[in-house]
Order: sequence, then C-alpha cells, then structure tokens
Amino acid sequence: MTKKSFLNDITKIKELELLKSHLISVVSHELKNPMTSILGFSEILSKNLTGKMQNFASIINRETERLVRFLNTFLDITRIEEGRQPVKLTQVNLKEIVDEVANASKPIAVMNRINIQTDVPEYIDIITIDRDLTKQCIFNLVENAIKYSPQDRDVITRLQDLNDIVRIDVIDHGYGIKEEDLGKIFDKFFRSSSEKTKNIKGSGLGLTFVKEAIELQGGQLTVSSKYNEGSTFSIIFPK
Ligand code: ADP
Repeated sequence: MTKKSFLNDITKIKELELLKSHLISVVSHELKNPMTSILGFSEILSKNLTGKMQNFASIINRETERLVRFLNTFLDITRIEEGRQPVKLTQVNLKEIVDEVANASKPIAVMNRINIQTDVPEYIDIITIDRDLTKQCIFNLVENAIKYSPQDRDVITRLQDLNDIVRIDVIDHGYGIKEEDLGKIFDKFFRSSSEKTKNIKGSGLGLTFVKEAIELQGGQLTVSSKYNEGSTFSIIFPK
C-alpha cells in the first residue's frame, strides 16, 4: 500500500466516524422531543388511572425517564467531545456544592436506605471552575455510590484543601469493583458484569461523562476500589 492510499483510507475512516457520531447525535435530538411528551403525559396518566392501568402508566413513565436520561447524557458527552460544551468559569466555594448535592441526593438515599454524610473542612480556598458542570459530576458520583451499595451503608462526600489542590472524595462501602474492570469503567457503555451489580440498571455512560467534564475544566478523576468492600471516586482540581 502506498503512503498516499494509506492516508486516504485514514481520512475516509475519520470522515465515517464523524458522520456516524453526527447521525447518532441528530437521532438523539429527534427522539428527545417525543420522549419528553411521553414522559409528561404518562406521569399525568399514572396519577389519574387506577389499578392495573395505573401500574402500566407508571412503568411507561419510569422507562421513558431512563431513556431521556440516557439521551441527555449521550448528548452531553457528544457536546464535550465535539468541543461544543461551553465552560462557564466562576469563583466557586466547593463547600456549597457538596452541601447542595447531599441535599439533592437525600430522596434517592432514603429510597435505598443509605445514609448520606458530608465531611468538609472549616475553610476551603475558592477555586475557578464551572459550577453547574461540577455539581452534576459530584451528583452522578453520589448517585452511583448509592446505587452500587447494599442497604444501610454510608456514602460520604469528603472535601479537602491540600496545598495546591482541592480534592473531593465520594466514598462508599458498597459492592466495589473487580480489579480487572477498574481500567474499563470510564469507557463508553462499559458495565461491570459482576454477580451483585448485573441487575442494577444503567447505561454505562455516567462515568464517561464525569471524567470528560472534569478534565474539560483542567481537573482529574481517579478511582480506587476493592471488590466487596467499596469504592472511592476522587475529583482533583488544581488551585
Ligand atoms: P452505569 O451506572 O449507568 O452503568 P457508569 O458509567 O456510571 O454507568 O458506571 C460504569 C460501571 O462502573 C457501572 O456499571 C458499575 O459496574 C461500575 N461502578 C460505577 N460506580 C460504582 C460504584 N460506586 N461502586 C461499584 N461499581 C461502580
């Protein structure tokens, strides 16, 4: 193969990849509007129907909600990867965000009988990050920590101010991650097939989004985990 035809092939592959991701993105957008209608109307139906019919409407509502979340996360990732995600940098006190996330995740925690805790220092340096994006990332990690823990465990969000970095650890004492899966959990659509977590619903997109959104702001996302003992996901921002 000549160098020229090799380069032509690579360009073709790149073009096809771009076309593919553009196509998926257009389809996802097109699906979002009808899905939002189904979500709203199935909620009304589930509140007004009774018996079996109410049950059917609730199932439609729950499954549509899952699909809408999937589409939103997928579109969020595509936006970051195509360089279209705006980053609104402002001066942020992470203590506020950690508290807001703890409050927002209480209903899910109560439903799953998980005890949500925060561990924040008296003082924390203000850092320059995108507030909404970071809040969404910490929320996703707390949601995962709840989802992948059996009942009656603690989920702790710890905030630390360490010399030239600020560190947020989301700690759980749940199912943990097998060593062979640790390198794959940030890949798009990867879901661990471990016995205890295989029936928990998800798309395998959440951590891809968190990693890309944190790196977009100059931060880092790391994980340490022991199977059957628990996991710690850490976001590190330079000051
Ligand atoms: P989803 O939860 O939708 O499957 P994620 O991208 O958020 O997708 O996570 C990918 C996989 O990583 C999950 O399917 C699960 O196997 C594993 N995982 C993520 N967070 C945790 C956690 N806190 N404890 C144990 N496993 C986790």
